Amino acid sequence: MTIKNNEELGASIQTLEKNSPHTPMMAQYFAIKKEHRDCLLFYRMGDFYELFFEDAVKASAALDIVLTKRGKHIGSDIPMCGVPVQAADTYISRLIRSGYRVAICEQVEDPSEAKRRGSKSVVAREVVRVVTPGTLTEDTLLERGRNNYLAAIGRAQKEIGVAWIDISTGEFFCQGVNQGELFSILARVDPREILVSESMLREPLGLKIQREFGDLVTSLVDSQFDSTAARGRLESVFAVASLEAFGAFTRAEVSAAGALLDYIDLTQKGLRPRLDGLEKILDGEVMEIDLATRRNLEITRTLSGEFKGSLNTVIDVTTTGAGKRLLTTWLSAPLTDIEKISHRHDSIEWQIRASLCRGVIRTHLRQVPDISRSLARLTLDRGGPRDLAVIRDGLKQGALISDVMRAAFDSDPAPELLKKQVQGFSNFGHLIDLLDAALDDNLPLKARDGGFIAKGFSQDLDELVGMRDLGRDHIMKMQLEYARRTGVPSLKIKHNNVLGYFIEVTAAASEKIPPQEKEKFIHRQTLVNAVRYTTLELTDLESRISRAAAEALALEQGLFQGLIDKINEFADDISGAADGLAHIDVISALSELAVTKNFCRPILEESSVFDIKGGWHPVVEAVLAREADCNFIPNDCSLNPDGRLWLLTGPNMAGKSTFLRQNAIIAILAQAGSFVPAAHARIGIVDRLFSRVGASDDLARGRSTFMNEMVETAAILNRATERSLIILDEIGRGTATFDGLSIAWSVLEYIHEVNKCRALFATHFHELTKLSESLPYLKCHTMRVKEWRGDVVFLHEVIKGAADRSYGIHVGTLAGLPSPVIKRAKEVLNNLESEKNGGRTGAMVNNLPLFRHRDEADENVHKHQLKLANLFRDANPDSMTPREALEFVYRLKEVVTDF
Ligand code: ATP
Repeated sequence: MTIKNNEELGASIQTLEKNSPHTPMMAQYFAIKKEHRDCLLFYRMGDFYELFFEDAVKASAALDIVLTKRGKHIGSDIPMCGVPVQAADTYISRLIRSGYRVAICEQVEDPSEAKRRGSKSVVAREVVRVVTPGTLTEDTLLERGRNNYLAAIGRAQKEIGVAWIDISTGEFFCQGVNQGELFSILARVDPREILVSESMLREPLGLKIQREFGDLVTSLVDSQFDSTAARGRLESVFAVASLEAFGAFTRAEVSAAGALLDYIDLTQKGLRPRLDGLEKILDGEVMEIDLATRRNLEITRTLSGEFKGSLNTVIDVTTTGAGKRLLTTWLSAPLTDIEKISHRHDSIEWQIRASLCRGVIRTHLRQVPDISRSLARLTLDRGGPRDLAVIRDGLKQGALISDVMRAAFDSDPAPELLKKQVQGFSNFGHLIDLLDAALDDNLPLKARDGGFIAKGFSQDLDELVGMRDLGRDHIMKMQLEYARRTGVPSLKIKHNNVLGYFIEVTAAASEKIPPQEKEKFIHRQTLVNAVRYTTLELTDLESRISRAAAEALALEQGLFQGLIDKINEFADDISGAADGLAHIDVISALSELAVTKNFCRPILEESSVFDIKGGWHPVVEAVLAREADCNFIPNDCSLNPDGRLWLLTGPNMAGKSTFLRQNAIIAILAQAGSFVPAAHARIGIVDRLFSRVGASDDLARGRSTFMNEMVETAAILNRATERSLIILDEIGRGTATFDGLSIAWSVLEYIHEVNKCRALFATHFHELTKLSESLPYLKCHTMRVKEWRGDVVFLHEVIKGAADRSYGIHVGTLAGLPSPVIKRAKEVLNNLESEKNGGRTGAMVNNLPLFRHRDEADENVHKHQLKLANLFRDANPDSMTPREALEFVYRLKEVVTDF
């Protein structure tokens, strides 16, 4: 019997437990697997993690490694595969990306201890960690420039709260959720894993979460969301008598935050990461941008889900991982508080003025490693010597940056935000000196094997290492001595993990060893070509060496722990410094961007104005410059109380969508704290931003194009307030012309009369321009085109007025539609237009033959092309006399004139 799935495995475990006929090792495996059925169990055996049964089948397929077998279970082969411990991170990362969870089961005692309990005893093993997408800490498993959030959704009666945590950096947030806002928050946080209670998953809300975020959802039993237990858990983690020390939290928020801590306890097996305090995001503090808008504007990911090519990556010139993460956070969560935004703008302006200082800072920033991730690993007992060096080097650079900036503040007083970021670096002098003295130049990744403490840091360690190395020198001398005494120059003293040190000679040489020497040799092993011995002298030396080595290693581990303890003492300050450096990085990067790309500082106010002069789309501009070597045409957009709704008509390919999106992006950048791609920008704070494009299928969620369009439009009309900004592109295109037109018509009226917010509405329904007669705040604009020698030139310029045509057929020509299709389309268009104007050609349209494969004109062209081709094929320019060449030209001219 082969066990096919975890249910069968469960049944098998129970049978086995009853009549346990299997080996002690398999019994241990089953007992551990029983507790971790939803994970692939990495079962440590020596230098490998082995996987068995269904786990092995799944992992071998996902990792493309060999599936073998090991022994039998109830008469059947046990499928098995394995990965080397040294390379496990890479394999784990691939399994996590393929949607698996991995339980790491280690040997937790020395094999010799197990042996002492009896020959059949198995080495004790325990799961030391469950690796899930939301609880990663290793650089190899993480993306440098992205936070790795684990989110949870809590509920208390009707209240809902979301909490999210990044254990690789210690950031921890929560937010209460208003009606309909949950999905916007989750889209903003972009978590890698979402914890939801079992009961919620059975309800419509849970089903919707499952539908939207499918693979990311992990279901937990309801008790893990208990808000009373959660409060206690949070108070104990932060060592406060009352959670109110961090702010006023709702029960739903506490429930979500507590579930996160419980899950971390379970997966990290009791090890707690260091956490910043729980920060509450207040209602309305952040511009609300839902998932569809984020996708459509390609803020942090492109439509295809890639980071590359998104607004974020195009404007990102930060130099550190933490800076990249912070920039993403700023862009994902633009603020609504003018004062807070102004602090960011002031800092950018300061850095623009202090251009010399900016250059120096950015040079130092390039050498700042990822302090917060190393700190998280060290406090989780997962760090290595290199993490200590990261903290030392980061703090050193931080101190230099802080000095440079403080000096610059003397001549140009510091803005509030920057002043805060440079504080505290001088407190790390002792810690840096300690780490400098303690750490060797070449550091291993793991502390396990020692060899990272610098000479001179600990006299005791130096002595033990001296004894160990002296012993090793002694072995070399002993080898020479034995070779001399036995007369076997090839005699070697070697070492392996089973025998320890041993003398090795070839079988032939072994025979020639003089008896007086041989009697001192104690036989250990005979191989095909070699014989191995030891001597009392060698075993004595070996035990002295291994004692010294073990003592040295233990001492080194102790020193390592001492350094970690020291870092733990300063953990909050170090985390604050890392955060300060991330801020400095983002601000200097945004300043650099503003200078190199000519961005302007936006004026923000509480009005409902949106006035952009000479705005551009930073991503399209970059693509045009890179790929087409042409310039982007900047455009103005002025939505003010007298004309807060712009109806934009214009030909295909004229730049309507680009114009719409660039204005939304300008609003995002402005409120994120950046300067903006425009010559001038005055923006009344946007509380919610919506952007929809007609006709995008969402097959994964089981919605047709039009259904999707309507669901999204409904969400906008229900949620937009007077302070919102709406971008609607081609709404109503996904259905029959009259239905679509009617919907677009009434949506416009609703926005104008009910939502009363700023909006840009691009459409091909030219009939909508009539609405400007009845809706006083609607203004018509169009994209300017020029017709030139029968061709259409798109000027990409937004002007007042309405378009009279779509030029769709022209775009079809540009796109390379076959000429008969274009020709026929023109005929149909002419007929339809004259029918609209009262003619009676409709019937004729229907009667027209659809496509004549090659009409007379085409026939004629084809004939001439053939003639020319024949002429060229038969000509041999190398053998032509000048006269023949002239005649050839005349013949060509004849054919061409005949066209
Ligand atoms: P459609 O109606 O077919 O969707 P559209 O009017 O929305 O077309 P866009 O998709 O915005 O047109 O733009 C088409 C292309 O025109 C862009 O990919 C870009 O290359 C170019 N373009 C758009 N706006 C500008 C501009 N302001 N300056 C220069 N090129 C532009």
